[in-house]
Amino acid sequence: MKTKIFDLNENNIDFQAIKEAAEVIRNNGTVVFPTETVYGLGANALSQEAAKAIYAAKGRPTDNPLIVHISNIDMLLYVIGESLSEKAKKLMDKFWPGPLTLIFKKSSAVPEDVTAGLDTVAVRMPDNEIALELIRQSGLPIAAPSANISGKPSPTKAEHVIGDLKGKVDVILGGSNSRVGLESTVLDLTGEVPTILRPGGVTLEELQTVIGEVRIDKGLVSNEAAPKAPGMKYTHYAPDAAMTILKGELPMVVQAIQHLADEQTKLGKLVGILATEETKHSYHAGVVISMGSRSNLYMAAAAIFDALRQFDKQKVDVIYAEALSEENIGMAVMNRLKKAAGFHIIEISS
Ligand code: AMP
Ligand code: MG
Repeated sequence: MKTKIFDLNENNIDFQAIKEAAEVIRNNGTVVFPTETVYGLGANALSQEAAKAIYAAKGRPTDNPLIVHISNIDMLLYVIGESLSEKAKKLMDKFWPGPLTLIFKKSSAVPEDVTAGLDTVAVRMPDNEIALELIRQSGLPIAAPSANISGKPSPTKAEHVIGDLKGKVDVILGGSNSRVGLESTVLDLTGEVPTILRPGGVTLEELQTVIGEVRIDKGLVSNEAAPKAPGMKYTHYAPDAAMTILKGELPMVVQAIQHLADEQTKLGKLVGILATEETKHSYHAGVVISMGSRSNLYMAAAAIFDALRQFDKQKVDVIYAEALSEENIGMAVMNRLKKAAGFHIIEISS
């Protein structure tokens, strides 16, 4: 497939390029576009055929439903099969456009492939002018998962999507780097108490401030329960090299990582170390990448997927990562790191 690639600027939009891409969406083709979370691989959310093209392009398991992206409330009302609750309205007022996906009962307008057979639909209004203009011009809600090959780290830069999907989609709208850098928070509103199915760009604490009680899906905190968001059960975000997270008091963690790195280096392996601004100068081995300062984990959120892809590019054999705080945005960052590491975590006790 020939992929047409555009290089766009969110502050000075090339409307002609978006018009062409919108035409592709209306013809049930596939368009990669930037959002504030990660890049999305989009297609007409009202077409079974278009949804199938998304699963095929990224090799996504067909039981993992897609998020429907909208640009106005009429589109939302068209895809959901219920009236809006007060909580939903409050959340939309506060966090849309933005990195919060809400789960509602679905309407019959949404084909089965988009929701992977579920009777619910996930909906979000992205906070990116290129994404919003694409949805507006196509006049359709756009189903879009992250624009990576399934299982790989999500794409936060145009070069990531070009590397993964050139030749597999009709159009790539390249833009600036994703501002948030990890996916939206998925919040299920269909039960009694709103429940986080996937931590993301909007934190538990922020949600609680707006609607009070919010639960976290059991499948996220324990290995015993199956996660309610089908996508959360898959290996995800995985770099090519095996990754291990080290957790404990920071000086001990640094010492342990350096020790492991020395052992691997002796064996002739190239080591990747996922460090922080506070610790990066303490390491003397392999490829050291800083996720940013521990005092602002929003920087780590924006940096981790690119860091994992850099380790792939440099062909490291093994990766050691420092654990971060799981408070606020740290919950989502650590969720991605744990999945990238296949839950391989070493706890260091003093
Ligand atoms: P991605 O498209 O890669 O950002 O992943 C979307 C996430 O939302 C996956 O974890 C899906 O399983 C989840 N999701 C989408 N639709 C639903 C739904 N109707 N119910 C529960 N989870 C959903
Ligand atoms: Mg994804």
